[in-house]
Amino acid sequence: MKTPHVRLGVIGAGNVGRALVELLSDGSRQIALVDGATAVLDIVGVAVRDPDTPRAGIDPALLVGDALALAAREDVDVLVELAGGVEPARTWVETALRRGASVVTANKTLMAEHGTELAQVAHEHGADLLYEASVAGGIPIIRALRTSLAGEKINRVIGIVNGTTNFILSQMTSEGRDYDEALKEAQALGFAEADPTADVEAFDAAAKVQILSSLAIGTALHGEPISREGISAVRSVDVEFARRAGYVIKLIGVVERVGANGLSRRTHPALIPVDHPLAAVHGAMNAVFIEGERSGPLMWLGQGAGGYPTATAVLGDVLHAARNRVSGRHDVPFSVDYRLVSVDAGDLSSVFYLSIDVRDEPGVLAEVAGVFGRHRVSIQSMEQSGFGQEARLSFLTHEAKARDIASTIGDLGQLASVDSIGASIRVIDGGVA
Ligand code: NAP
Repeated sequence: MKTPHVRLGVIGAGNVGRALVELLSDGSRQIALVDGATAVLDIVGVAVRDPDTPRAGIDPALLVGDALALAAREDVDVLVELAGGVEPARTWVETALRRGASVVTANKTLMAEHGTELAQVAHEHGADLLYEASVAGGIPIIRALRTSLAGEKINRVIGIVNGTTNFILSQMTSEGRDYDEALKEAQALGFAEADPTADVEAFDAAAKVQILSSLAIGTALHGEPISREGISAVRSVDVEFARRAGYVIKLIGVVERVGANGLSRRTHPALIPVDHPLAAVHGAMNAVFIEGERSGPLMWLGQGAGGYPTATAVLGDVLHAARNRVSGRHDVPFSVDYRLVSVDAGDLSSVFYLSIDVRDEPGVLAEVAGVFGRHRVSIQSMEQSGFGQEARLSFLTHEAKARDIASTIGDLGQLASVDSIGASIRVIDGGVA
């Protein structure tokens, strides 16, 4: 039987697009590629903003400047969107899906905001919409959730899904850098953008939490807000306290079932015990830790970014889409569980770490302890460091509601003896994050 051909249109020839074209053109992979796709893959066009600039490893005859026209071309069977952003990427993807072409994308923002509606369009037109590379780059977590864990009840997902912040916090932990130094180093090494807001304020991690939650628990993907806290308030004294107390600080994204129909989705820094598997995720690496009801704990570790690791995940999707086309099938989207109700982050309980700078005067400790008591926050341990105007009190609480911690902090700020209040950071301990 003659081997069929599947024609690919690629939008974007940046870090990921260039690596994908290289993998697809690699002679040593051709047999595996044809085998994986059950077809010969032909790239018929590569859209970039400026098609006149030569791109190493890409035939100039393939370069085009109009991405929408490429998405609309009848000879594109699978469109690979690797440009990023919501618009015009949403329009390109929808255009391809509406004429029955499958789409592979690495675009987490697009999927977090429009994933459910686009998956429906794909289904109605007999096409695939695949997005493995949109969460944790090279880690095949989406396929694992969609297939291997499809029958499991997942109670909690904790991800270290932003390499930039993990690099910054790792440098603060292992090299004793302060936040600003570690951020500058991340920028110099290409791990952080000149404007690091999307990473350090956890917008990037929040989009990935949306995608993980849709697959792990069945929530809709239409841009609903995630409770979001980044790392810019984490100071080197917090990292140092964590180290002495047997923890490391990480930015985590959490999806968690609460009771029968409750759901919490959030990002925040957390103190993680040094013997927890996530504590060993260093530098720009990513990891996803899953607690299934019957499977128990599972963890994936790998590179969350970078041209080749990300292109590997994109390539897996391209082969899957091609194989489906050859056999006349497409993946059916996961259904949404509309019974799920978001639980207010303020109602969730956790052990908290808090640190406050106070004047070292008689009576201050009793005053501070009184504020904790008024808000039903009980103290597990307290450490005092420094003297005089420089004294610092660091606390670990027993389990307390986030709302009570917030009102404790509010009242502590009113005390004349309190100079400043540092980060309040949740502690992952046993079953609580
Ligand atoms: P990038 O290096 O900035 O490349 C973007 C490419 O898209 C460029 O080739 C650019 O063309 C092209 N492009 C942008 N707007 C366009 C338009 N209107 N029309 C035609 N072409 C356009 O981006 P990247 O790092 O490869 O990332 C691509 C996607 O993968 C994003 O969604 C990103 O979030 C996702 N992702 C990236 C990584 C990673 O490690 N980089 C990891 C996971 C997911 P020009 O070259 O002419 O400017």
